[in-house]
Amino acid sequence: MHEKIENWAQAMLKCVRCAKCNSVCPTLEERGWEVIGPRGRIKMALGMLQGKISPNELMTNGQYTCLICNHCVEICPSGVECTEIILHAREEMFNRSAAPQTSMMLIEALEEEHNIFEMDQEDRTLWSMDVEDVVEDHLNTNAKIGYFIGCLGSFMGRLAQIPTALVKVMDHLGLDFTLLGEEEWCCGSPYYLAGGRELLKEYAEHHFSAFNNLGVEKVVTTCAGCYRVLKDIYTHVTGLKPPFEVVHANEFLVELLDQGKLQFNNGSLNKIVTYHDPCELGRHVGMYDEPRKLIQAIPGVAFKEFPDTKKDCLCCGGGGGVKGVDADLAMARALKKVDQAKLINVEAIVSGCPSCYDNINEAIKKQEANIRMMDIVEIIAEALGLD
Ligand code: SF4
Ligand code: SF4
Repeated sequence: MHEKIENWAQAMLKCVRCAKCNSVCPTLEERGWEVIGPRGRIKMALGMLQGKISPNELMTNGQYTCLICNHCVEICPSGVECTEIILHAREEMFNRSAAPQTSMMLIEALEEEHNIFEMDQEDRTLWSMDVEDVVEDHLNTNAKIGYFIGCLGSFMGRLAQIPTALVKVMDHLGLDFTLLGEEEWCCGSPYYLAGGRELLKEYAEHHFSAFNNLGVEKVVTTCAGCYRVLKDIYTHVTGLKPPFEVVHANEFLVELLDQGKLQFNNGSLNKIVTYHDPCELGRHVGMYDEPRKLIQAIPGVAFKEFPDTKKDCLCCGGGGGVKGVDADLAMARALKKVDQAKLINVEAIVSGCPSCYDNINEAIKKQEANIRMMDIVEIIAEALGLD
């Protein structure tokens, strides 16, 4: 987790304007415009902080098309916290009513219904049609393991296979787990990405107490964004610490593998697969080994790396709240991802984030590529014969 930056001007002035970051910025590559690159974004943020420029459409477009992919931070020789600075600029703009309308619409949805789709919270378990009985047995029960599904897995029918797969795996392994059902709210990431971070506190308090009341000691997520919000961002923004451990499914399943509880004795998958590192799990927290260990433990699977992988992995375009602001930009990045997958002749791209899944899957369909998008929990469930 990043330290809080107290002196923003100083943090921005650390930039020596070498432009190294520009060489890796996906939005700059797509738009070819200096103000839509890390160096330009920092310069504009500094100008706004010093009162030299006021928020305007150009600045909104610049700051809110950052994918928060952290590639610039990874490469910057001066240690400039570019993404933190961009998020701080968004906070300033939010407070001056200059956040984009699409970001504000998500916030309004959260205020109405505590989820990004503004759907009735009672419909939070509609995803569970294939595992209805199992889910009923685990709704709001006391258990040491809690599963935080997230809005995308809960409400987007085309992503329902992700929570379904993890629930099947946990049930198969006889694990005692609990689900919050309608007491699960959005993690609050739209507030953070839009710049309304103050509003996160209510979400942190709600989830900490909801899981705590059920005796949960470990919360597992299948969403890279929810993972980082629950594990780090609540604390970073509010100072409140989760009263439980937070793990992503990658870590959760590797632990079970190491303990000998997850075994593929009766299962195998004959597939050539690669792994896409979601920015929130890769460059932001360095979770590179766990998913690769899991995939390579599956009998029959041949694993290949993307040409750009791990810390150099190409962002799929699905993050940063950019899809709502510039859908074409998000898709352009996902199409590049599929191009790379075609170069290495894989049959499936595995990832650990519903946002990456959805964006890359859309690009696969656009290209009519003979590649399957899979979540890490799906490939594990299939290898166990649970599909
Ligand atoms: S790489 Fe770092 S120092 Fe160089 S321009 Fe980018 S942010 Fe500034
Ligand atoms: S976080 Fe990614 S998209 Fe945003 S400025 Fe840095 S490299 Fe560009």
